[in-house]
Amino acid sequence: MGRKKKVGSAGRFGQRYGRKVRQIVAEIEKIQKQRHICPKCNMPYVKRIAKGIWQCKKCGNKFTGLAYYPKVMEKKKG
Ligand SMILES: [Zn+2]
Repeated sequence: MGRKKKVGSAGRFGQRYGRKVRQIVAEIEKIQKQRHICPKCNMPYVKRIAKGIWQCKKCGNKFTGLAYYPKVMEKKKG
């Protein structure tokens, strides 16, 4: 049945990666699974099609972003 670990989706990585690394991976994957908002149409249809490349399924807008998520989470302006 496999062991369930606190680190969530990163639990598939063995111990060799260390706890810290797996926590970071789990965090990134959590973000990846979320819906991403398209900067063009503001609809949450953005899918990661390759490392650093994202495409909106709604308007077809293709753009580059970070490898693991489209944008750095910005602080709210104003
Ligand atoms: Zn769009």
